[in-house]
Amino acid sequence: WDYLLASDPAVTAILDRELHRQQNHLELIASENFTSAAVMAAQGSVLTNKYAEGLPGKRYYGGCDYIDQVEQLAIERAKELFGAAHANVQPHSGAQANFAVFLALLNPGDTILGMDLSHGGHLTHGSPVNVSGKWFNVIHYGVSPDTEQLDFEQIRTLALAHKPKLIICGYSAYPRVIPFEKFRAIADEVGAYLLADMAHIAGLVASGHHPNPVPICDVVTTTTHKTLRGPRGGLILTKDAELGKKFDKAVFPGTQGGPLEHVIAAKAVAFGEALKPDFKAYSAQVIRNAQALASGLQARNLRIVSGGTDNHLLLIDLRSVGLTGKVADQLMADINITTNKNTIPFDPASPFVTSGLRLGSPALTTRGMTEIEFREIAEIIADRLQHPEDETIAQACRDRVAQLCSKFPLYPHLSIPAPL
Ligand code: PLP
Repeated sequence: WDYLLASDPAVTAILDRELHRQQNHLELIASENFTSAAVMAAQGSVLTNKYAEGLPGKRYYGGCDYIDQVEQLAIERAKELFGAAHANVQPHSGAQANFAVFLALLNPGDTILGMDLSHGGHLTHGSPVNVSGKWFNVIHYGVSPDTEQLDFEQIRTLALAHKPKLIICGYSAYPRVIPFEKFRAIADEVGAYLLADMAHIAGLVASGHHPNPVPICDVVTTTTHKTLRGPRGGLILTKDAELGKKFDKAVFPGTQGGPLEHVIAAKAVAFGEALKPDFKAYSAQVIRNAQALASGLQARNLRIVSGGTDNHLLLIDLRSVGLTGKVADQLMADINITTNKNTIPFDPASPFVTSGLRLGSPALTTRGMTEIEFREIAEIIADRLQHPEDETIAQACRDRVAQLCSKFPLYPHLSIPAPL
């Protein structure tokens, strides 16, 4: 940061304020995490200078000897981590990874079957505002109104009726285990490809705390920055090396230009970290913390969608406290807790208002917090949501948040020497 400060105080001041925000707020957004200093160092390296269209050993540019080594290392580590025969580490993001899979397997007008956004699916799984919804004939499945868990009777019925070419499983707001083999049976029955988008749970899969979709599905996409704790980016994996070549072509030249080799180096570092035993312990703690948060909130009479969580995230049904997601999100921001409003299954409110709040444990687990702190966080959240008008309680909540933040420091080595 010394170089940055000397060259551009305006940008440095903004980065400093963001660092301060991350250090002094409780980060409960389920899709976020704090990467290691090593991941950030790789991403901020000389590799940002290099063009490397193509793949290791098959580039359209000279000077790629070391780039090839780092990309090959990322590929090998990704394959080892997830037991894949083929990995493409170039997608710039999770959305790019999904788009490349669609380009490889589908033609415009083909039918896809994916989870409804309002039940926990992702925009790239067929939302009308996304290219997946504009170019394909989308059929949506959801969760059962009784259990708020995947409704396989409905999924099978829809698959038999519409004969999709691709079935998508894997979600942005689903707190339960995904039984990939049930999707496989349905996909086989109707002759569909099966894509698992494990963006949210990739870290749990890597550490053996969630079933691995790679041996079961035709193709698996993920982001690298959520539970996997790497840099922002995407990844495509498959057990089928031949099919893998199609995904390579769909990434480049199909949907992207030059790969971001500095990000790929950071992915290699993150995959290396995820291969270490510490990461297993971290992932186990992520789940225990989410469960402690869910049961702490339930003890305060807040309803948790589907009755709890098996993974890193949970959804509060705010109708149990007479609030909307929009209001609750602001109440949390007001006490320095960062969350996001979220639709819940069969939500009567609009997507801009919502009846849910999505919470996740990966980031604060990285800071070192355990069930003890997550139970305290549940109390803080409940105190604020149940007393939205009480400024004395709000101030007490802010103080408790500040105490937790100072007890679990984040990036102490990054603090800027001069006040900005
Ligand atoms: N797929 C799922 C299930 C996601 O939750 C997300 C992001 O939240 C994505 C894909 C898209 O990832 P990105 O934001 O990197 O494009």
